[in-house]
Amino acid sequence: MGPGEVLIERMSWTDVRDAMAAGSRTVILPVAAMEQHGPHMAIGTDTFLGYETSERLARALGDALVAPAISIGYSVGHLPMPGTVTIAEETLAQVITEVVDSLVHHGFTDVVLLSSHGGNYGALNMAVPGLRARHPAVRIHTRTSFDSSMEARAALLDELGLDAARVGVHAAQGETSMMLACHPNLVDMSRAVEGFTGDASIRWRAKVPPPMDEMSPTGILGDARNSSVELGERFLDSNVQEWVSAIRSGELLN
Ligand SMILES: [Zn+2]
Repeated sequence: MGPGEVLIERMSWTDVRDAMAAGSRTVILPVAAMEQHGPHMAIGTDTFLGYETSERLARALGDALVAPAISIGYSVGHLPMPGTVTIAEETLAQVITEVVDSLVHHGFTDVVLLSSHGGNYGALNMAVPGLRARHPAVRIHTRTSFDSSMEARAALLDELGLDAARVGVHAAQGETSMMLACHPNLVDMSRAVEGFTGDASIRWRAKVPPPMDEMSPTGILGDARNSSVELGERFLDSNVQEWVSAIRSGELLN
């Protein structure tokens, strides 16, 4: 509660009404997950990072609020590790659809679907065409593949001289650094290890990814060592700047 809050779940309904009346007509919906993130990091990592990125993005845009996250995603490949929960892509697509319908009902003109989990793009691609058809006056911004978010970070990795295979795609230097930057109490670096550093793209390109334990017994894709708060801040900032320019240019509208 209070002035400057952007997370809808921490606001009252009158706060939301007043913020919208004052010009906050963009809403960011974190589409996240609840899945294992290695032996060193919390299962809620994608949800926490989805909120962190969305909150920073809302503040950078200046006229945006953050909807309550969809905190359970499509994570079937992570089920070998205890604690992971998953829903079917069709179910997730339906949840996304009904949540966006609710937000549109209140009068938001721009909806940003911000996936913090590579497995959610199938469901997003199922849901978005129908949403755009039903709400033609609403601008729905979304990336359509995990590969496009990988491309977005490639320039930064070059600039920092980092190895993409070690920064990784799951529970490795990338996500671990971002968690150190915003939730250090949910990371135990004494348990951060090297995981699978080969080509993991089958995991997000196949409709049903192979069980994680066959590829990486620790559940890490990349190398979680050498993570740092400083790197995490760079990754978060860069991601937010990519989103800001993509939203302002309208490049994620179709
Ligand atoms: Zn993750």
